[in-house]
Amino acid sequence: MELSFVIPVYNEEESLKELHKEIIENISNTSYEIIFIDDGSTDNSYAVIEELARKDANIKPIRFRTNFGKAAALQTGFDKAQGEIIFTMDADLQDDPKEIPRFVEKINEGYDLVSGWKKKRKDPITKRWPSKFFNLITSMVFHLRLHDYNCGYKAYRKEAAKSLNIYGELYRYIPAIVWSKGFSVTEIVVTHHKRRFGRSKYGASRLIRGFLDLLTVTMITKYRRSPLYLFGASGLIISLIGFIISVWLAVKKIFFGMSLSNRPLLFLGILLIVVGVQLISLGLLGEMIVYSSRQRDKKNDELESLNKD
Ligand code: UDP
Ligand code: MG
Repeated sequence: MELSFVIPVYNEEESLKELHKEIIENISNTSYEIIFIDDGSTDNSYAVIEELARKDANIKPIRFRTNFGKAAALQTGFDKAQGEIIFTMDADLQDDPKEIPRFVEKINEGYDLVSGWKKKRKDPITKRWPSKFFNLITSMVFHLRLHDYNCGYKAYRKEAAKSLNIYGELYRYIPAIVWSKGFSVTEIVVTHHKRRFGRSKYGASRLIRGFLDLLTVTMITKYRRSPLYLFGASGLIISLIGFIISVWLAVKKIFFGMSLSNRPLLFLGILLIVVGVQLISLGLLGEMIVYSSRQRDKKNDELESLNKD
């Protein structure tokens, strides 16, 4: 199997037939599968998918009992997909199947992930500006300059997609996650259409969540194996400053008889020591969690290899 299309669907009944038709038109004679994941739609989406599947045996319908979100839908698709190149596309026809050959070309150049860039984005300004800001921040944090991390239109070499384990709303940061695993990532400009049917599933709440997710992704990519470096370094510096302040005050008190009751600095010294020690402890706890989960992974691997023998 050469191409897999992983398409999350949440109330998109009007676009599915057209989408299927346009995909077929743009892949010539390549072997393919289209995995539609119905993410608990409340309209007729699933009926439409089943109808399509009756006509085209390459369509694999999956249905969630309720709305689990885009990340869960994509992850299920990645787990099922068998193609050498795995595409993700939105179901709403905003992503144009005409671009498929250009993605394939880039993958064949050797990239593991090709991410779309909706340069002329046909969405309201309330979506475009915050998105610019996020892309800039994320690019800086991960040293990977992409203009459109969260573009739903992407192509993966199989290994890159299979390495993912996303949940919640982490699909927004997939390029950062893939990149931090050592895969190569690039972007191509893609045409983007206005939504013709249905309505967007995302509102302003995505700003706050997006920011929190950035923290999560930084943690799980950069500090997953060494939480103590993140918390411990700041903890050490903070408690050291607190310690110096306290020693200085103690010297003044003991040798020069200075009264401490009117020195606000005393509180600062104590506060810094306490906070610093807490940060270090948090880092140590993190290390213990990493250690025990590695231990468990190792055991599981051993069990697996025993089972194979
Ligand atoms: N989607 C989904 N589950 C959800 C929300 C959205 O599977 O809970 C799908 C949706 O059907 C579409 C894609 O994710 O195929 C992107 O959603 P949408 O077009 O609403 O996002 P926007 O383009 O407005 O950012
Ligand atoms: Mg859309």
